[in-house]
Amino acid sequence: MNAQPCSTPCLAIVVPCYNESEIFPLCLTELGERLRAMADSRLIGPESYLLFVDDGSWDDTWAQISAASTQYAHVRGLKLSCNKGHQAALLSGLAHADGADIIVSIDADLQDDTSAIEKMVRAYLAGHDVVYGVRASRQTDTAFKRLTAETFYRLMKAMGVRQVFNHADFRLLSRRARDALMEYRERNIYIRGLIPLIGFPSAEVHYDRKERTAGVSKYPLHKMIALALEGITSMTVTPLRLITLAGFCISIISVLAIIAVLINKIAGNPIQGWASVIVAIFFIGGIQMLSLGIIGEYIGKIYLETKQRPRSHIEEKEGFAERTPIPTRE
Ligand code: UDP
Ligand code: MG
Repeated sequence: MNAQPCSTPCLAIVVPCYNESEIFPLCLTELGERLRAMADSRLIGPESYLLFVDDGSWDDTWAQISAASTQYAHVRGLKLSCNKGHQAALLSGLAHADGADIIVSIDADLQDDTSAIEKMVRAYLAGHDVVYGVRASRQTDTAFKRLTAETFYRLMKAMGVRQVFNHADFRLLSRRARDALMEYRERNIYIRGLIPLIGFPSAEVHYDRKERTAGVSKYPLHKMIALALEGITSMTVTPLRLITLAGFCISIISVLAIIAVLINKIAGNPIQGWASVIVAIFFIGGIQMLSLGIIGEYIGKIYLETKQRPRSHIEEKEGFAERTPIPTRE
């Protein structure tokens, strides 16, 4: 059970936004209504709020966030100085969720079912520090996205990374789980891989993933590959071990080949097999280059980690001053 769940906790909903001007008004309304409904039923405190993190958008997302935070007491905004990616934007939001007892992170595009937030809060009140939003079905994702995502989850599992299947970054964290996450100081960060390492009691809430209501995915193929690489290199050294294993297997094959060559020589058989020599050279050359690339990837990560550069910079903050609570409908 978690330490002491607050009876009416202050909830912060953190929403990273990158060029989401088309969907922002809808997102603001839908999440605002959810917040109000939960405050009205005294599930959460009236000081609960939405925190939109603008990840260096070049459309008018920030102008909209800024206007909303001036207009509504329950809206706060954070503007990063430039585009740092979803994970960095999310972390920045988590770090700035001041005063919140619980924090829910959700994408701006409303693909995740916002009604699951209430279930997450109830799971927190029942004693869980971490509540994972798990996609019960991915029918609305393209076949390609489904296949690549599920293959990736399976690959990570095969490499020994504990990760909740079909869970992305829609989750609830209690304050102490958030604080624990903040203690992970690495730059090469893959949040959904770290959360299970934190421990604390956890639960799952299942929901059906919807289609994007407006705008297009901000995760093109190259960003998906980058996130997958980030996930693998930050969570496991299995690829390095596979290189050792490959080296071991090739060494055994080489010993067998040497024995075969020697037997041929002793038996006086004429030397033959130019093709097999060339094939072996290319094969081993290829494996070596690939291995160097994998090792290089890890060395690159060490290089970046040693610099300890900040993950993001805040350019502007809106709505963080003393606020009046959301007026409840009574
Ligand atoms: N996002 C972000 N920075 C980026 C890319 C995406 O903050 O560089 C946000 C985006 O605005 C959205 C969330 O991350 O709120 C998930 O992105 P998206 O919905 O485009 O990803 P998909 O659902 O297609 O995987
Ligand atoms: Mg999406």
